[in-house]
Amino acid sequence: MNKYKMKINIAWLKRKRDSLLKQLTGIGPFVDGSMVVVKRRCGNRNCKCYLKDEKHESYYLHYKEKGVTKAVYIPVDMEDTVRQWNDNHRKLKEIVAEVSGIDKEIIRRHVKEKRLKKGRR
Ligand SMILES: [Zn+2]
Repeated sequence: MNKYKMKINIAWLKRKRDSLLKQLTGIGPFVDGSMVVVKRRCGNRNCKCYLKDEKHESYYLHYKEKGVTKAVYIPVDMEDTVRQWNDNHRKLKEIVAEVSGIDKEIIRRHVKEKRLKKGRR
């Protein structure tokens, strides 16, 4: 563990960050929120949802706007697409958090490493 820790320096952190930034540009469309399935009857008494109690499933995207939860209906033929966009958003958040963490570490190490370099002369 110590050996690993010794290798970490600002140059290493910057390389790691740059590769994350590259991933970021390739992430594609994204949407926040979470997909929620709603089961319902359609109202037609000849439909399987009424006769066999096999309810229809529709998806909604729940999301927050200024602290208020909102929902948008997801058309059936967009379900897979929205799922993908939603996954992309999750990845995006992970990468953003990781880049922020690295940048804080760079800020933290800045002065110390500058001193080390000066001392080396
Ligand atoms: Zn039905």
